Amino acid sequence: MKKSIIVTGRLGDPLKETLAQHFELIEHSGPLDPTQQDVLDILSKAHGIIGSGLPITPELLDAAPALEVISTISVGYDSIPVDELTKRGIMLCNTPDVLTETTADTGFALVMASARRVTELAEWVKAGNWKASLGPDHFGNDVHGKTLGMIGFGRIGQAVARRGALGFGMSILYSNASPKPEREKELGAKRCELNELLEKADFVCVTVPLTAETKHLIGADEFARMKSSGIFINIARGKVVDESALIDALEKGTIKAAGLDVFEQEPLPATSPLLNMANVVALPHIGSATHETRQAMAQRAVDNIRLALQGKPPINLVNEDVRQ
Ligand code: NAP
Repeated sequence: MKKSIIVTGRLGDPLKETLAQHFELIEHSGPLDPTQQDVLDILSKAHGIIGSGLPITPELLDAAPALEVISTISVGYDSIPVDELTKRGIMLCNTPDVLTETTADTGFALVMASARRVTELAEWVKAGNWKASLGPDHFGNDVHGKTLGMIGFGRIGQAVARRGALGFGMSILYSNASPKPEREKELGAKRCELNELLEKADFVCVTVPLTAETKHLIGADEFARMKSSGIFINIARGKVVDESALIDALEKGTIKAAGLDVFEQEPLPATSPLLNMANVVALPHIGSATHETRQAMAQRAVDNIRLALQGKPPINLVNEDVRQ
């Protein structure tokens, strides 16, 4: 009998056909809410779950006694209780690497857009305001030659820094759990304490994962340490930042501007003050959202779940302990 996979994300027909050669596919749109009878029914026979943004709870796992693997179409897995999965012998697979460069592109787009006021002035032109040559009120700030501070210096952090150092002649500071000597050599990057980075950087860019340790890592004290000309970029997760402290810092001029791909609540509520700030570039969580990269992520997630359910090592196993 074929093993069963719940497909919750958009995979595209060719990938679904690949999986269907080996497994029974149960397509489910909407949340996997174990209080719903139809969800309980499909969970009771599922060996695998594939999708993105999967909020996994112990109650859901209780309802899925045959579950062997969860394959998330993302690199981040902050909505999934990894220890709980490991305890139950369930593998967690994610999709690192294939989205690194695209997410770094988004980060750098936010650097450029915030510093040069690209979206603000483009909207201003479209609104018919360009009637004379511009004065200092509409000037932005340079990016090239400035100091870029990376909070988190893993795959994506290093890829953003590479753009800054090699493309824009920026000096790189980084604050990270472990040192990265190879990147220090390649990019001239310098590791420092978070406070020093906040005080010295012209651009502060967050790329740490959301964990219990990094929740609200950046708050009022951290914004107060930044230069008043400083620009804050977040392409990690909204909850790494205390958003009300960010709003306060932007309103009071503690920092100059922000470029944000992620928010504490997504979609960003229509009442968010961030939406009315000219010095904020807000994107709808599009870090990895290109046709090519989303396809590569879906392919990787499919490969991971297929290998795991066939008893072979998946390409990206988060909880290595589960196989011991
Ligand atoms: P990664 O390679 O694991 O990099 C994360 C880095 O953060 C690592 O270098 C790690 O240090 C460091 N770190 C972890 N906890 C830390 C802490 N408490 N203090 C200081 N440094 C810490 O992951 P990645 O592939 O770069 O992805 C990073 C995050 O980006 C993901 O978790 C996800 O949330 C987010 N993301 C967002 C989007 C988007 O659409 N906006 C897209 C992709 C990813 P070590 O190297 O010492 O382990």
